[in-house]
Order: sequence, then structure tokens, then C-alpha cells
Amino acid sequence: MTSASAYGADLQPFAGITSFMRCPVTRELAGVEIAMVGIPYDSGTSYRSGTRFGPRKIREASLMLWGYNNPLSVRPLETLRVVDYGDVDVIPPSITDTMHNIETEVGALLTQGLTIIALGGDHSISLPLLRAHAKQYGPMSVVHFDSHPDTWATEFGGRLYSHGTPFRRALEEKLIQPNGYIQVGLRGSTSGPTDWQDARDLGVQVITMDEAAHMGIPAVIRAIHERVSGPIYVTLDIDATDPAFAPGTGTPEVGGFTSHQMLQLVRGLKGLNVIGFDLVEVSPPYDHGDITAILAANLAFEFLSLLAVKKKTQYTRHNTQDSSA
Ligand code: MN
Ligand code: MN
Repeated sequence: MTSASAYGADLQPFAGITSFMRCPVTRELAGVEIAMVGIPYDSGTSYRSGTRFGPRKIREASLMLWGYNNPLSVRPLETLRVVDYGDVDVIPPSITDTMHNIETEVGALLTQGLTIIALGGDHSISLPLLRAHAKQYGPMSVVHFDSHPDTWATEFGGRLYSHGTPFRRALEEKLIQPNGYIQVGLRGSTSGPTDWQDARDLGVQVITMDEAAHMGIPAVIRAIHERVSGPIYVTLDIDATDPAFAPGTGTPEVGGFTSHQMLQLVRGLKGLNVIGFDLVEVSPPYDHGDITAILAANLAFEFLSLLAVKKKTQYTRHNTQDSSA
């Protein structure tokens, strides 16, 4: 039998029932610290849909993760008690009812003291996730990897909820500290010069893909660390990655980060007080050879690893303080 306790040579990646890294699928949460939460919703999409199949495919791709994170020197499933919560109850034809369910279900997990890693779904799910987290933590800093700003005021002629507007709505609702908000990876053609400027005018720090390429990854990581403070929420749109590495997405933009650069960017968040994550816009129907889902599973593993590092650091600090008292 394979289980979450099987690692490396004992792992049978081809066998067993699919959950994220074979974590137990349960809603019994006593003693649980981290919940992987699927949000298979894609009706906020403006172009190619299909991200409703993202969570299931990312879980499948995660079965080949062997458990130990070498660059971060942690084995997150041993350091943390992690479960796969399953999927939030979504309602494809109603974005407002779906957002209500996301906020309510995730809010209940946060109230019980859990940290969640949400697997989308399109980027519209970030708004109810931010609402739930802001209830717990107040207005947050946000690290946002994306090729698009997602701060449109309107889309299709209206002030809609969609995957093009979640961060405009979140800023309007004061869920985000504008001076702690940074977007990384913007590129591609836009409807005009105002798209990126609108984000800047809202107080967002924007590092475009061209700027990131010029600065280099270590400098981008330094800029992120300088920008954020307090509780930090991380949202990663897989289309920040170049479509050569992540073709399975709805609105691909050429000229982006490599898979390795994405891993480096996420690992670079080590040391920050991250309190929540989402990973969105993985659309398996447009994927090839599962490469996008495999990248997404690895990035989610890096999220888990960051939380494991955070716990170990806090534990060490706590013990050091005890012994010096
Ligand atoms: Mn995007
Ligand atoms: Mn996005």
C-alpha cells in the first residue's frame, strides 16, 4: 500500500488513488496545519476555458514528487500535517454563488487555524480567497506572478467579476495594501498603454517581463522582499511562465519565464511571512505531455516547502528564546 508516508524508492507513482502527493483526503481537520484545496472553476475565463480540470490534473502530476526538497532542505510532509481537502463546491453558471462558496469554505478553514494552498481554476477565484484571508489577517501584501495585471476596471463592457478584474475589485474592497503589492512578469500586447499604467496608478509596483529579464532573478527576488511586509498572500498565474514551458493555459503570452526561473522565484520567497497561496490558470485541455501540470505540481510543492521552512524557523526561534530566558 502506498501512502503519504511512502517516499523515494518506496513510492509507486503509478499506483493508488489520486490526491495531492497522496495526502489523506479528509475534512477531519483536528491537528491539521495545511489544506490543499481544489477550486475547479473556469467560468471567469475570457478566452479559452478548461481550468476546471486543473486541480485534478495537478494532483495527478504531484504523484511523482518524491518528497524531499533539496534546495530548501525540507521534507514538507514530515514537517507539516497536510491534507487534501478535496474541491470547493463550485457552480459553473454562477460566479457570485461560487465566490460565496469559496469565501465561506476557505474562511472556515482559516478560522480553524489552517493555512491553505488553493489550486485553480481561473484567476477570478483569487478575489474570494483574498476576501477570506483579509477577514483573518486584515489588508495584506500580495506577490502576484502573471503576464497580465488583472486590474481591469471593466470587462465585456461591465464592472464584472472575471479573471481580468479580481485585483481591481480586491483593491476597491481594501483587501490588499497597495504599497505592499507587487506584480511580476507582465508582457504581451494590451488593449492600450493604459492597462499597465492603470495598475501603477492604483499604487501597484509592476516589474514587467522585460525589466525582470534585465534585472535578473536575484534582483527581482530582492525587489519583492523590499516591497512586502506583514501578512503576505502569494498568487501565481501559470501564464507568468513562457507558453513553451506552460502551454496548458487559457491566455498564453510569449516571452516569459522558464520553468527553472519560476521555481527560483518561488523559492526566493523563503523568509517571508506568507499566509496563503493560490496557483491558477492551469488548463489541461491545452497542455502537451502534462508539462504545465507537472510544473504546477512542482510549484505547489515549493509552496508547501516554504511553509515547512517557515515552521522550522519559528520552532528554532521559539526554542532559542526559551533557552535564553
Ligand atoms: Mn494571466
Ligand atoms: Mn491572471
